[in-house]
Amino acid sequence: MATYSYEENPRLSAHFCAREFRCKCSSPHTFQVSEQLISMLERLYTALDCGKIIVSSGYRCAAHDKAVGGNGAGQHTKGTAADVVCYDKSGGIISAKTVCCKAQDLGFGGIANITSAYTSVHLDVRTGAKWYGDETKGTNTVTSDFYRYFGIAKDSKDSRKAAAKGIDVSKHQGVIDWEKVKASGQVDFAILRAGFGKESNQIDVQFARNYSECKRLGIPCGAYWYSYAKTAAEAEQEAAVCLSALAGKQFEYPVAFDIEEKESLQNADALCQAFCSALESAGYYTAIYTFKSALESCIGDNVKKRYDVFLSHVDVSKSSYAGNYGLWQYSWKGSVSGIVGDVDLDYAYRDYPAIIKNAGLNGFAKSATTTPAADTGKDTLDTGKDTDMLGQILQHVASIDEKLNG
Ligand SMILES: [Zn+2]
Ligand SMILES: [Zn+2]
Repeated sequence: MATYSYEENPRLSAHFCAREFRCKCSSPHTFQVSEQLISMLERLYTALDCGKIIVSSGYRCAAHDKAVGGNGAGQHTKGTAADVVCYDKSGGIISAKTVCCKAQDLGFGGIANITSAYTSVHLDVRTGAKWYGDETKGTNTVTSDFYRYFGIAKDSKDSRKAAAKGIDVSKHQGVIDWEKVKASGQVDFAILRAGFGKESNQIDVQFARNYSECKRLGIPCGAYWYSYAKTAAEAEQEAAVCLSALAGKQFEYPVAFDIEEKESLQNADALCQAFCSALESAGYYTAIYTFKSALESCIGDNVKKRYDVFLSHVDVSKSSYAGNYGLWQYSWKGSVSGIVGDVDLDYAYRDYPAIIKNAGLNGFAKSATTTPAADTGKDTLDTGKDTDMLGQILQHVASIDEKLNG
């Protein structure tokens, strides 16, 4: 066990620095980090092939442990625990189910899923009795085997949830037979063109029908808005029309700002920020849709880090785009039963329905993301007072920035 002063920040291993583990209470004080915990986190990093692991809560003083729902004497107060979010190399959050299983294989003494969106995991290196929990179920010890508990095959080479398969459609697909689409089994989600430009009469003529059919058949859907904006003011006008089209509807997937016109891309960052911040202010989870080349040469790092990315890069088996993205459009020539002609095909790498519904975004009412702490040994997500998912996402982004820049 090593003890550090509040301002100390030595590198502890290839992927962790001391400061990531210090107490997040308001008074600066010394903190402890177990070497055993760091070496186990490094093993987890390798085993999951992570791009990064963000520590949302490491050491806690007794007062802070109590403040976030612990009993003031748990593993966090000993420096032997960390609540983490694990990211894959494309920047997607690795499901807590996968992380729990892998942590079990590696021999962590205490493991628990701590959010109902399955994004965060408590890990500790306690000795003696094991503690495998699922905080969202409100009980301390849920299982002796996470594989069985989550229904994950142990022998599968990659127990990571496979990407969801989707399509994106507009009036160009005509009147879609959504029952056939659903029955095809090829479509886990659909991204619907809501409209284009800044005039109120430019809502996609199939949008309302596509939306109501998806809802009727239980196909999770998102939306996109095709931009012709040249200035931030025009992008704001587009956002206003888009919001009027989205009003009263619920979307399990992001709302993407489709920026691909040459003149729009000349001023891309300002347009993306104007559109996405207007959508976010209205409670929507946004993404930037554009081509690989535009992402590389027209969109700034701050914008790509700040908003989710819907990458368009077709006719390749694996995209060579090096940045992060949550959605990938990989073909314009898909063939799906119920749709006449070609259709765009997409993959989603994040569990958007869980993220968006839990956060109460995109028209959904907010649901509780953690079980209220009533019991000793309880562990809640330590994100301070802001526990909504958008806040969590932004906090993660901030943590990532801090990690990359620090
Ligand atoms: Zn403290
Ligand atoms: Zn914890």
